[in-house]
Amino acid sequence: MQDAKLAAKARPDHTSAIAITEAITVGGDALFIVGGPCSIESMTQMEAVAESLIEAPVQGLRGGIYKPRTSPYKFQGIGDLGLDILAEVKRRYGLPIVTEVMAIHQIDKLAAQADVLQVGSRNMQNFDLLKALGEVQKPVLLKRGLAATLEEFILAAEYILSHGNPNVILCERGIRSFDSYTRNVLDLGTVVALKQLTHLPVIVDPSHAAGRRALVPGLAKAAIAAGADGLIVECHPAPEESISDAAQALSLEAMVDLVQQLQPLAAAMGRTMAPNRQRLRQ
Ligand code: PEP
Ligand code: MN
Repeated sequence: MQDAKLAAKARPDHTSAIAITEAITVGGDALFIVGGPCSIESMTQMEAVAESLIEAPVQGLRGGIYKPRTSPYKFQGIGDLGLDILAEVKRRYGLPIVTEVMAIHQIDKLAAQADVLQVGSRNMQNFDLLKALGEVQKPVLLKRGLAATLEEFILAAEYILSHGNPNVILCERGIRSFDSYTRNVLDLGTVVALKQLTHLPVIVDPSHAAGRRALVPGLAKAAIAAGADGLIVECHPAPEESISDAAQALSLEAMVDLVQQLQPLAAAMGRTMAPNRQRLRQ
């Protein structure tokens, strides 16, 4: 992978920790766990999400306002209306916000409210978007394309790095295969390989890999055991009523449970996690 000049490790122990806020990093000892709905639907929804997850605790909230949907007739996200919700949630709860950027013209307005700009699977090789994200310093969460090879994935990251933004987080979210029981196949081999080949933080999205909520906790745990630096997990106050990706959304209770179940695994992997706030209070 000759052209991965900036993404490749300079020496075997080379890892880069990326600062998301002054207190939160990804790629260091601490795991970076992000939770939230597929789509932001309302302020009430996001309040409920933040109230539960801040106790878990998570290190970031997710939620898309511009949604890349397979069908043009399906909900496309609440769009610009969601910008105020992102800002308000951040102001009230202080949790970093991860949200998807689909087009160059959205970068500035999203960067003003969010802490991490997500590039979705379908845009992994939107090279103009990647170059434009190289021009800002906001952390970029780059999701693996649904049929992208490891090399294509790393070179997509190289586009952002080579245009001047060193803050790239890689995210494995499953690749397409022949079995439709799971939505995608979580490729943990690639997670291990990415950690060996690149110095960039690598996180896992078990939700889009599984497509079914019952499979999400198991895959999340496997990802941490494989050496992932964190997770991005879909959850919703009323999972069945999610406007998008309902089948894979965890309830907020299940999400909090999952974060707790990760504690001993994190310790076994030599990683740290913030303690559960509710428990601390008891
Ligand atoms: C999402 O995070 O909601 C999403 C659309 O993910 P992906 O790009 O991995 O399909
Ligand atoms: Mn989704």
